[in-house]
Amino acid sequence: MNELLPIVSTITVASAGVVAYGAVNSRAQLFGETLYRTSSPRKLAITFDDGPNPSLTPKLLDLLEKYDAKSTFFLIGKFVRECPDLVRETAARGHLIANHTQTHPNLFWLSPALIRSEMEQCSGAIGEILGTPPRWFRPPYGFRNPWVVSTATELSMRTVMWTLLPGDWKLRPLETLIHNLQPIVNHAQQNRAQSQGAGDVLCLHDGGHRGLNADRTNTLKALEYCVPRWRDVGLEFVTIEEAVHITAS
Ligand SMILES: [Zn+2]
Repeated sequence: MNELLPIVSTITVASAGVVAYGAVNSRAQLFGETLYRTSSPRKLAITFDDGPNPSLTPKLLDLLEKYDAKSTFFLIGKFVRECPDLVRETAARGHLIANHTQTHPNLFWLSPALIRSEMEQCSGAIGEILGTPPRWFRPPYGFRNPWVVSTATELSMRTVMWTLLPGDWKLRPLETLIHNLQPIVNHAQQNRAQSQGAGDVLCLHDGGHRGLNADRTNTLKALEYCVPRWRDVGLEFVTIEEAVHITAS
């Protein structure tokens, strides 16, 4: 037996582990710099993926307006083409529109050319409706490879991940979802006395990548419960654009 074999396989397994970390971990910077937290513990960036969703987004916009909670929507290009008025309305009500690819593939397995095409098609769909292309991008499933962040950068977009992913893309009991959102209040209370540091980027879903009109009722109900509580602990709701600004405090 080759005595180096165990060492080589250990290195291979370790390398695979590093690649997996860089590809999946929401805070990993291995495959390019990403934004995953806000610039202040008082700022909460609520973000929504996989829309627009005609059966839910309009109700969500009403809820967000009630609390003046400006948010960021990472949209799927093929749904943008189907619901241009909803995209227009989301932007008109003060939210930030961002790119979540054209068809929601796992980019980890795609060639650089296909990655670029997925991003360009989505930006094109948004740009035609809003007049300007998006400046922010989130990869489907959070998967990155060495070309994802760099391609987004070439297309003048920064890549956004998250600090909290409560798993609302699965149908879960409302109590479970509210429980999974508890860290937001915990962090706010821990950081109440601090003006320095970082705040949460929350990743929720107002749509579903398999088709329009996904059932996201529990996401809406969880927010109806949580948003006033987040406001009451002193959190300020910001878009991703506002999340990166350093505010004097
Ligand atoms: Zn997604």
